[in-house]
Amino acid sequence: MNADYQEMLTGAIHAQGFNLVGYAPLRPLQDDAEKLRAWLDASMHAGMDYLARYFQFRTEPQTLVPGSRSVIALGMNYYNETDAGDAQRLKIARYASGVDYHKIIRKKLKQIVRHLKETGGAQVARGFVDSGPVMERVWAREAGIAWNGKNTLSINPGMGSYFFLACIFTDLEFNCGNPIPDHCGRCRRCIDACPTEAIHDEGYLLDAGKCISYLTIEHKGEIPDAFRGKWQQWMFGCDICQEVCPWNRFSRPTTQTEFQASDDRRELDMDSWLNLTEEEFQGRYGQSALVRKGLGGLQETVRFLHK
Ligand code: SF4
Ligand code: SF4
Repeated sequence: MNADYQEMLTGAIHAQGFNLVGYAPLRPLQDDAEKLRAWLDASMHAGMDYLARYFQFRTEPQTLVPGSRSVIALGMNYYNETDAGDAQRLKIARYASGVDYHKIIRKKLKQIVRHLKETGGAQVARGFVDSGPVMERVWAREAGIAWNGKNTLSINPGMGSYFFLACIFTDLEFNCGNPIPDHCGRCRRCIDACPTEAIHDEGYLLDAGKCISYLTIEHKGEIPDAFRGKWQQWMFGCDICQEVCPWNRFSRPTTQTEFQASDDRRELDMDSWLNLTEEEFQGRYGQSALVRKGLGGLQETVRFLHK
């Protein structure tokens, strides 16, 4: 790829609001396939059966988007300040406290895909944001925008880990970056801080069935009693293993207004949640990812915290 075009493209992607842009050659992911297979075989994906489907698409991505040769890996900052000092409020993970990112990022990916076709002559260009069998964290690593930390999240040395990931597969070829080395070193703050021991003692491996984020968002049915008392007021998602990560001292509030905390979405206390009507819920959180769980499901979690 012509270096001038790639520079112009990177600028156009930044103009869409993406903070991180990296390029990687598309290739089969043999080592990551073995790790994914072992993780699935150990049932650490818990009830997320969809992660076991389309194994070949995840690990041999040229079969997912035929003709593609490269991946453009993208990151968009969502860090926002919360009411950390208010012990009464029930906590919502930072990523979910704004407008549902799928809607926002999908629109931006469409613009970039159009740009690739109109200005770069791409015949193949397809964007993904949590919307297909794509190993986004692996591509973020391959494209040199993040390493995968012991908490299993993507971490950028200048921005921390509070960012959304997205990928575009295309037939264009680029000058590619090198993966960022692992900077976790001997740190194990995330492992020690996780209240449910969901992160393996040596890191880099998550048992989703023990993770508050999974249990408050994706888990169907009641939360097992074994976790009672360990919850620390999280009612949708959990940020503990990010809050303790030293690399997040570099986090800065997002400039994307849709992801900023706002007064009308401010977190509520337990009684307010239990008394919230559907109309009030839609008014406050109708644009956010919380609607995927629904008011009834969220109130179930609140009752678990209340018992
Ligand atoms: S999100 Fe919370 S529960 Fe899940 S691994 Fe991180 S600290 Fe543990
Ligand atoms: S808390 Fe420490 S070990 Fe965990 S992801 Fe951050 S740097 Fe790595």
